Amino acid sequence: MSAANLLDVNDLKVHFPVTRGSFFKREKRVVHAVDGVTFTLKEGETLGLVGESGCGKSTTARAICQLLRTTDGQILFEGVDLRPLTWNQVKPYRKNFQMVFQNPFSSLDPRMTIGSILSEPLKHLMDLSRAERKERVMGLLKEVNLNAKFVNRYPHEFSGGQRQRINIARALAVSPKLIVLDEPVSALDVSIQAQIINLLQDLQQKFKMAYLFIAHDLSVVKTLSHRVAVMYLGKIVEIGETRELYQNPKHPYTQALMSAVPIPDPIKEKKRARIPLKGEIPSPIDLPSGCTFHPRCPIAQDRCRVEVPKLRKLSNGSVASCHFAE
Ligand code: SF4
Repeated sequence: MSAANLLDVNDLKVHFPVTRGSFFKREKRVVHAVDGVTFTLKEGETLGLVGESGCGKSTTARAICQLLRTTDGQILFEGVDLRPLTWNQVKPYRKNFQMVFQNPFSSLDPRMTIGSILSEPLKHLMDLSRAERKERVMGLLKEVNLNAKFVNRYPHEFSGGQRQRINIARALAVSPKLIVLDEPVSALDVSIQAQIINLLQDLQQKFKMAYLFIAHDLSVVKTLSHRVAVMYLGKIVEIGETRELYQNPKHPYTQALMSAVPIPDPIKEKKRARIPLKGEIPSPIDLPSGCTFHPRCPIAQDRCRVEVPKLRKLSNGSVASCHFAE
């Protein structure tokens, strides 16, 4: 592990056992939701995590935040592997990483006032007096540009954008070093999305937190991320600096995703050639042999059907898992 890394995720696996078939002929199978994810995150850095629905982005996020049981691998937070720790052993580390969920409507308890919602993490994870907590709550509302008068209101009295600001304030409450943002703007209108992205950028500049930013809108990810990781069927297939990955993607799956991003220049947009992906994403229960992307890959060869490509560093600095990335 490099000393500057805040988070090192090594070969992380999250498998879910499932049964299918009739009562008399029950078959045990395994869903490979996350199947060997490896990446690092530095202090103050934003890593975007993209990929189609069901590729394992949100499961990876929940695993890092210790919200579900993992199968194998390491989650090193400042060098400490959180994976083998019990719920109580993780508690002292918990204030270092917080999560913002996708749906601003369901992620706030409708029976609690905003003041109580923001006080909760302070009560459990920080040793503050009642007066200090109150002062901190007022400060948090100010940080996310909400009026302090709102402190005694309930979630239903706010718009979607305001609720997401409250979620961000709750994550910010315990001064975390990492915030995992799981599709934080995808349920919001475009104009509100821009405001939330600006807020996240301002907060990162002020408090120097790292973000793991999950989204399916590649334009939004580009705005916020220093580096971007692309996931396919529970694995990372390419990671690179944002500009390089968007301008010079090396993995055929990344190339297909990037070809779908609209270009703001109307002349270039007219010439944009889309790379269509054939077929549906395969089931994470019956993973294809060799490279799991081979049934949909436009340049697949015989080798791809039998040999699993390893993530390897390329001459442009990106890391990709494709036999023919060059
Ligand atoms: Fe396509 Fe083969 Fe590369 Fe997989 S290894 S992405 S199937 S070319």
